[in-house]
Amino acid sequence: MRSTRLTHENTRTAFVQLNSDACTACWKCIEICPGKVLDKSFLFIGDTLIHEQVLMYDASACTGCLECMQACEFNAIGIKKQ
Ligand code: SF4
Ligand code: SF4
Repeated sequence: MRSTRLTHENTRTAFVQLNSDACTACWKCIEICPGKVLDKSFLFIGDTLIHEQVLMYDASACTGCLECMQACEFNAIGIKKQ
């Protein structure tokens, strides 16, 4: 479990990009990613959870296998636009 500020850099790798608005925090992409690129992110105010989503914490480890994109039922991960 990690907590971080959302930045442009942690929503994409060289191969895929995340649509944060579409992420439902189901965590299927984390389970399937062989490179451990993805991890859970939580935003709390005090003790209250106000937002959770996946983030790409280790973008350099992404191999472009697209397993995460195929696993996401909410189309929150797509091929990175150039
Ligand atoms: S599989 Fe899709 S909806 Fe689920 S955590 Fe990953 S990006 Fe979010
Ligand atoms: S493309 Fe493959 S290596 Fe890259 S984040 Fe998705 S599952 Fe992980």
